[in-house]
Amino acid sequence: MSKQTITVIKGDGIGPSIVEAAIQVLDKVGCEFEYEYVDAGLTALEKTGELLPQATLDAITRNKITLKGPLTTPVGEGFTSINVTLRKKFNLYSNVRPVISFKGTKARYENIDIITIRENTEGMYSGHGQVVSADGLVAEATSIVTREGAERIAVFAFETARREKRKKVTIVHKANILKSTSGLFLKTAREVATRYPDIEAQEMIVDNACMQLVMNPQQFDVIVTTNLFGDILSDLCAGLVGGLGMAPGANIGADCAIFEAVHGSAPDIAGKNLANPSSVILASIQMLEYLGMQDKAEKIRSALADVIATGDRTTRDLGGSFGTTDFTAAVLERL
Ligand code: NAD
Repeated sequence: MSKQTITVIKGDGIGPSIVEAAIQVLDKVGCEFEYEYVDAGLTALEKTGELLPQATLDAITRNKITLKGPLTTPVGEGFTSINVTLRKKFNLYSNVRPVISFKGTKARYENIDIITIRENTEGMYSGHGQVVSADGLVAEATSIVTREGAERIAVFAFETARREKRKKVTIVHKANILKSTSGLFLKTAREVATRYPDIEAQEMIVDNACMQLVMNPQQFDVIVTTNLFGDILSDLCAGLVGGLGMAPGANIGADCAIFEAVHGSAPDIAGKNLANPSSVILASIQMLEYLGMQDKAEKIRSALADVIATGDRTTRDLGGSFGTTDFTAAVLERL
């Protein structure tokens, strides 16, 4: 059988160091992948004059599986987010962001195991109707929710719940105020829920969901919601388990998938060997599970859990005083 080729975008800022850590971990556990390295973001802009070169798009299409470091989107007019562009271009409509409690982090909670499933292509990120009036006094943006978009993400969430033997899906919305967009999302998700009588469907307004997540996060299992709410709630969830250093995300479409950390390029700590590589390592675990390589995924997860639980060479954000390379060495030693 030919080897699986993975497209790798090392990314900007802390990206190269944490992606390198993840590749070392994948190699150590015996994944016989080929890697095709391509650029995007600032690194690509500097090399080629483009944020998202055609060669990168071709590699993502060809290999179907991509492991990606965070990308810096230059601030200023004319630059749309590369991440949003990638999600739209490849129709990666599901953003799957799991958070799990690891013993030994400085998190306030234990026993958290929540998957946020965020619609990844529509809503306030539709990119339509972004206008500021000529006098600069009025700004507008259009949120677009389609029945098709709402249905496929709801189906994805309930299918995920069923496959992973989860008990409950919470549909998070704001249909009391955003009657058209959130209303259509809720109505469609409700209809989908009726096709899954084995899974409890719960509805929650987004503001209440934020409060409930802080007061009693263990009640949540799978959350499904629209693009902007999902973006915000998944960062909130990352905060419940120790911060952005512990939060991976998979962008999944019908034809390809991109696995990445939820966090950005962290320019404040870039080049200082301070970044926690766990998010990208956890994203590679998601990638292995997607590829059906559960055994290897589990090995990496338990090595990572042991490093964090024993506080062996952990990074600053986890309460330790070690660097990215020391932390990675501690994980590699356990594999
Ligand atoms: P950020 O996520 O890069 O950083 C937020 C804070 O978290 C910083 O203090 C940072 O030091 C810390 N942090 C992030 N990752 C960490 C890690 N692995 N270990 C330890 N600490 C970590 O957010 P930002 O500063 O708002 O954004 C920086 C750039 O990243 C922007 O250009 C933004 O557009 C981009 N961004 C990219 C992605 C992506 O590629 N998926 C996601 C979010 C932001």
